[in-house]
Amino acid sequence: MEGRDGYNRRVLIDTHTHLLRLSVPPEIAVREAREVGVEAVVNIGTNVSDSREGVELARRTAGVFTTGGIHPHNAGDHSQESLAALLELAGSGEIVALGEVGLDYYRNEWPPEMQRALFQDVVSIANEVRLPLVIHSREAFSDTMDVLAGARVPVVLHCFEGGESEVLEAAERGYYIGLTGNVTYKNKPTAEFLDGIPPERILVETDAPYLSPEPLRGKPNVPKNVVHTARFVAGRLGMDEAGFAALTTANARRFYGLDGEPGSAGPVA
Ligand SMILES: [Zn+2]
Repeated sequence: MEGRDGYNRRVLIDTHTHLLRLSVPPEIAVREAREVGVEAVVNIGTNVSDSREGVELARRTAGVFTTGGIHPHNAGDHSQESLAALLELAGSGEIVALGEVGLDYYRNEWPPEMQRALFQDVVSIANEVRLPLVIHSREAFSDTMDVLAGARVPVVLHCFEGGESEVLEAAERGYYIGLTGNVTYKNKPTAEFLDGIPPERILVETDAPYLSPEPLRGKPNVPKNVVHTARFVAGRLGMDEAGFAALTTANARRFYGLDGEPGSAGPVA
């Protein structure tokens, strides 16, 4: 049973969410998340324009951090201008990471070589400005790892869906693993190998409005639902919820370089 105290002690961060695509206004989603102990959310950019909008949102909303990225579905946006825009966002000090970027051979909206060229260029920018990388990889694990071999900054494999060998490879590289609502679905291999992930590399995220965790599967997702994914993973690892929350919140702060004590998250004035 969950007492009010236990509830208040559990402080989580939703490390990957798309606040500009929710079915509710972002400010309301952030407030509702705070009410259940989700003290901060990291909004993820997927193209130059939503990355810029994310910066505006983070400026006016306490507890929101934001990234700049070009999703592989938008690899057609790859140009000198779009890379310059990411570089400028990175230089502004207002984004906490580059991404999401990566490879998606499932949807394959753009030819793999176009996706790889964009991905490689963003990895180079990350190395130059020393920001961590948020990676989207779907049915493209080995090519993703090839490109990432050139990364000299912290990496998170967001919405991780790998099995035993992928968990091991990621652990060897020291990459963070972003666990999303789909880890709670039946027959997901990752759920069987959670104890192979080094504890200090586990992050939890919603990827809202997508991938609502059980028991909300199929409904539009929002940041507060990260509590369900955290509860599931904590249970699988035999950890109590408060301890798991403290662990993953510390991991999120380390990965994204967020300042301040838990409970005081927000853009640093
Ligand atoms: Zn995403």
